[in-house]
Amino acid sequence: MVMTHVLVGIVLGVVATLFVPAATPVAVLAGALGGLAPDLDLYVGHRRTLHFPVYGPLLAAGAVALAFLSPSVELVALAVFFAAVGTHAAMDVLGGGLELRPWQATSERAVYSHFHGRWLRPRRLVPYDGAPADLALAALVAAPALLVGDGPVALAVAGLLAIATGYTLLRRRLAEYWARLAHLVPPAFVEYLPARFAVVHRTHGSPPSDD
Ligand SMILES: [Zn+2]
Repeated sequence: MVMTHVLVGIVLGVVATLFVPAATPVAVLAGALGGLAPDLDLYVGHRRTLHFPVYGPLLAAGAVALAFLSPSVELVALAVFFAAVGTHAAMDVLGGGLELRPWQATSERAVYSHFHGRWLRPRRLVPYDGAPADLALAALVAAPALLVGDGPVALAVAGLLAIATGYTLLRRRLAEYWARLAHLVPPAFVEYLPARFAVVHRTHGSPPSDD
């Protein structure tokens, strides 16, 4: 869903620049980075280390309030960044579970809530990242940015949609490549693999139980 998250961030940035035109293009860039940032934990505690589905939106609300009181370019960009970070983590609850083949729907872990001290279960409104429904959502989110955004923004959005389309087409094949690569890792190093790959390694390709 990372492309969808980046697109959501861009739209948040575009909306902010409608109110504070001086924040163009910094706020749009901040939104894109905020949409991307949480998934930098992909190989280090994915959807836990940098995902804050409760604290994130709270922090975003504070940053947005601050930007309303003092709409400088810096504060607007910061507000958009945290809004994109918070929205990303909260949106992950609506997707699939944390597993190598999320279409099998075996994982009950969507995103970790530091507030609740436990994993939140996946609601699967979008069955998994890279599902056709995910691409449809990305296109829906991209539409306002394509309509309102200026040339470079529209171009970036179109490029992201193209990448998302390619990812959707290759999603299942990519998972099989990852599984095959995981098999090539020498047993001594398996403990360093993220859990979802290590499980595949141990069970020789049968459906992972969780994480
Ligand atoms: Zn995420």
